[in-house]
Amino acid sequence: MMKKTYYYDLSIKEIDKIKQLDYKPSILLHSCCAPCSSFPLEFLYPYFNITIYYNNSNIYPLEEYTIRMEEQVRYVQQFNELHNTNVQIIVTNYDEENYHKLLEPLKDEPECGKRCHLCYKLRMEEAYQYAHNNHFDYFCTIMTISRQKSSIVMNQIGQELEQKYPNTKYFYSDFKKKDGLLRRNALVKEYNLYNQTYCGCRYSIRDK
Ligand code: SF4
Repeated sequence: MMKKTYYYDLSIKEIDKIKQLDYKPSILLHSCCAPCSSFPLEFLYPYFNITIYYNNSNIYPLEEYTIRMEEQVRYVQQFNELHNTNVQIIVTNYDEENYHKLLEPLKDEPECGKRCHLCYKLRMEEAYQYAHNNHFDYFCTIMTISRQKSSIVMNQIGQELEQKYPNTKYFYSDFKKKDGLLRRNALVKEYNLYNQTYCGCRYSIRDK
């Protein structure tokens, strides 16, 4: 029988190592939306200099993308004020027109199936490449907080990307564990964050 990996435990082990350093390492934190980034930011900011990387051309339509992106920016600003910290944010170009063509061959897949695995990989790889090219110490995705998304698949993608882009270490996570999801939901209320009703792409609107 294959040994189960407990990604939450791996994140705690890595933080224990980081606590021994005499500096705060940098981390590029891939984020899909403000609500899902709420708890990961709170969890990571004592140990890392964080830059959020917001590259989500999967979101359809443009109006919905704009709401989510602006909400992400607002959350980071308010988080910085409240915690007297300096989380940065990078927002990349929006190009749903071309992005959805990559997903289209898998349009009939159910949510959490092969289309979603490709979607995690496309966004994570673009972000990881940026982290590698810009010498970030670590890369992480906040998407492991979702109950609808497979943290096993995402962490396996992260592991593969670490081999391909070795300047940057992959930070394993499973943010939903140990009440992470409950804390996310509390922060959504506290910051009055816009909480979307579908994952993002045009196919997820169809299936919601
Ligand atoms: S449902 Fe979400 S993760 Fe899956 S393909 Fe659509 S946007 Fe991407």
